[in-house]
Amino acid sequence: MTEKTLPFIKSEMEQIIRRYPTPFHIYDERAIKENTRRFLAAFDWAPGFKEYFAVKACPNPRIVRLLGDLGCGTDCSSLPELVISERVGITGENVMFTSNDTPAAEFKKAREIGAIINLDDISHIDFLKEHAGIPELVCLRYNPGPRRTGNAIIGNPVEAKYGFTYEQIFEGYGRLRDLGVKRFGLHCFIISNDIDRSHYLKTAEMLFTLAAEVKQKTGVRIEFVNLSGGIGIPYKPEQDAVDIEALGTEVKAAYDEIVKPAGLHPLKIYAECGRYITGPYGWLVSTVLHKKNIYREYVGLDASSANLMRPGVYGAYHHITVLGKEKAPLTKVYDVTGSLCENNDKFAIQRPLPEIEVGDIVAIHDTGAHGFSMGFNYNGKLRSAELLLKEDGSVDLIRRAETMEDYFATMIFPE
Ligand SMILES: *Cc1c(COP(=O)(O)O)cnc(C)c1O
Repeated sequence: MTEKTLPFIKSEMEQIIRRYPTPFHIYDERAIKENTRRFLAAFDWAPGFKEYFAVKACPNPRIVRLLGDLGCGTDCSSLPELVISERVGITGENVMFTSNDTPAAEFKKAREIGAIINLDDISHIDFLKEHAGIPELVCLRYNPGPRRTGNAIIGNPVEAKYGFTYEQIFEGYGRLRDLGVKRFGLHCFIISNDIDRSHYLKTAEMLFTLAAEVKQKTGVRIEFVNLSGGIGIPYKPEQDAVDIEALGTEVKAAYDEIVKPAGLHPLKIYAECGRYITGPYGWLVSTVLHKKNIYREYVGLDASSANLMRPGVYGAYHHITVLGKEKAPLTKVYDVTGSLCENNDKFAIQRPLPEIEVGDIVAIHDTGAHGFSMGFNYNGKLRSAELLLKEDGSVDLIRRAETMEDYFATMIFPE
């Protein structure tokens, strides 16, 4: 069970809304910091442990800086993400560039800021050489294919577009060595939003074993393994959070059992979690505009799937709290919608909730990762603001809401 709490009460939120109209995403600085410190502590036994925050989860410079101040690096997969990282002062080997189908300009930028380049395909060795040059340190992304099953969200590895096959991994390190590469990393991203920690452990065991095989078969010594992201969060109240300390202990046991006998100690361990770091500590705050009673009862918000697409696209559950009615009995069943001309624009379907009135404020939980960042402009919807609830209780605007001018800025109207 996970209690779905809010770091604000209705009267406080009403004050915030007087300055910043709904809808917006608001993030809890204190909780993000505490959670990140706890995550880092769970792996502090590991030599050179580093978390590279997956920028795509919450690409807000203020959040990325905050995590950088706690010792995190960034995991970037595009030019703008590299620029966010660079502009908040996170560069060099504090940046992991994990991309796929990569344009040459992005490899160039990654090289320019000294990022660790994580190659997605064997053909990218020559592509990188031609367009950006081969650095001293290169990481390879592994796709185990039939050797491993994935999970529901990311699917079967055989069907996944990412990474090197098992055979290509050995060939790839050999080629890189011949090209003068001196330092090597190994990466695999195979689970997504997975709250069964044994799956993350399995990735660690798999990569430790593979690193040992690489040494045996090619003589190449891997310097770090990147266990990547995918650790899930309990979106539903009946789910439990991952016991991160237990996961740390279990990965340590696997390290002692596999890495040390293989003569690979010290092997650095990296992670690139996004969702686990910020996911539970953001809320989409929205105001009820309308109630509608037809074959079902509907509550219409001033936010839409354009602000949070996970429910509409994945059928994902996001808990909803009506402010001031936190303890009220769930006497009604509603579909909670936005205003898109798309019937999947629903934040909740047939959800038991307290009786809702027009003007009520609702908080949609767990939008701190893959929330704002997956937003879009469909139907002429503007992107919302992002706010940071600071440790002292004050609120900073960390991204302004889009305006109509922003929306029209790229359009070319006929004369
Ligand atoms: C998306 C992604 C992550 C982060 O995933 P989370 O589910 O947010 O932890 C990490 N690494 C890669 C390569 C990704 O594509």
